Amino acid sequence: MDESCLLCSGDRLTEWRFEDEDCWVADCIVCMTPMIVWRTHGLPDPHRERALIGRLEQVAAERYGEDGFWVDPERRRIPDHWHAHARPAGGFFDPRSPLFEEPADGEG
Ligand SMILES: [Zn+2]
Ligand SMILES: [Zn+2]
Repeated sequence: MDESCLLCSGDRLTEWRFEDEDCWVADCIVCMTPMIVWRTHGLPDPHRERALIGRLEQVAAERYGEDGFWVDPERRRIPDHWHAHARPAGGFFDPRSPLFEEPADGEG
């Protein structure tokens, strides 16, 4: 537990979609996409990471459909506490995010 870590404090700033003893899934306050957070501060081993990603995929499939999303494992803002985003296919932000941009027409 790192007191200065936003993911450890786990403030419920957005709706939580899922939680169990290992992890929780909530809408990211920036992207508004489903984001899974491991409850432990640090990085899981690959086996556990796969299980966590599977949990995220279940939540994402309910929102975007089975093939309507991609998992983004890159930790840009908080690299030392494991989390991952599920983003809408072809996009980065959920349409509800203020940062969402409509795909430009006519681009190949
Ligand atoms: Zn943390
Ligand atoms: Zn985000």
